[in-house]
Amino acid sequence: MTEIDQRELAQQFASDNYAGICPEAWQAMEEANRGHATAYGDDPWTERAADAFRNLFETECEVYFVFNGTAANSLALASLCQSYHGVICCDQAHVETDECGAPEFFSNGSKLLVAGSAEGKLTPQSIHELATKRQDIHYPKPRAVTITQATETGRVYSLAELGAISAACRRHGLSLHMDGARFANAVASLGCSPAELTWKNGVDVLCFGGTKNGMAAGEAVLFFDRRLAADFDYRCKQAGQLSSKMRFLSAPWVGMLESGAWLRNARHANACAQRFGAQIGGIPGVRLAQAVEANAVFVSAPEPILERVRGRGWRFYTFIGGAARFMFSWDSDTKRMDAFCRDLRECAAEAQ
Ligand SMILES: *Cc1c(COP(=O)(O)O)cnc(C)c1O
Repeated sequence: MTEIDQRELAQQFASDNYAGICPEAWQAMEEANRGHATAYGDDPWTERAADAFRNLFETECEVYFVFNGTAANSLALASLCQSYHGVICCDQAHVETDECGAPEFFSNGSKLLVAGSAEGKLTPQSIHELATKRQDIHYPKPRAVTITQATETGRVYSLAELGAISAACRRHGLSLHMDGARFANAVASLGCSPAELTWKNGVDVLCFGGTKNGMAAGEAVLFFDRRLAADFDYRCKQAGQLSSKMRFLSAPWVGMLESGAWLRNARHANACAQRFGAQIGGIPGVRLAQAVEANAVFVSAPEPILERVRGRGWRFYTFIGGAARFMFSWDSDTKRMDAFCRDLRECAAEAQ
């Protein structure tokens, strides 16, 4: 096997899915790899992972394992809607901007009803407006709301904000779905329990992200309103999301949840974002575009500065949230972060 150039492997902060697999997930995969197990989820690892979720969330929820977040969100929303229904989301929502129409596709046409937003957060007011905008037969009937926690712009809905959103949902007879690709980071940020951040506050379905939390792949779909899970297993199978060697999707969750790595990883990533944000804040010509509340830092800087930083080999995206985005993960290295901040400081000075 030819070696990969080590320079290609240096840490970047462009995305939290650039990171590898954390030891706890890796070890559980290794253990699951000893011997044979029944296929398609009828195995001890899958049962243990589902129980670990029920334990963590302190409730008898229905739990399913799929390969990625797009599938988790799309299939969960499809299970809340008929094809003529509408799903209220905010304009920054991953379901709207980054899923290639999958929510509409898997729901056979349920339309996303998109609310404008200042900071990438949906508000009770915008839910109310979209839910009451039209009552006639010609417009899709609003049926569900989806929010992202933590948001695509690195913000976190407080428990009070979540409570107000779920009250608006109840008032208008809407189900509430949470895209939790970074759910762990939100829990770490708020210091509340997973139950408080979901079913105790009116969330009906959660997509809990494993990939960005330190796994190779996989998201869990948790139905707190168990009636909404009817035939979800068939939906997953039809969508190509039923893993035949399911234990390799579920065992990493056992490693993550039973060891507490899910929360440790998120706490580390959030702490790195805080540290990074604090350093960036003091650089002339550069400012934080969003408050740092989870594992993301959004940086506004003139293009000549960003161009110089790219020239020094750093990668980052600017198409999300209107600024340069930096994401931190379970293994973010403070030395490497500090090296970036030094480079940014120098590039900012050069560009003056
Ligand atoms: C990463 C992410 C997802 C999942 O994306 P996949 O690439 O399909 O796994 C979903 N929602 C948000 C907000 C994300 O950041």
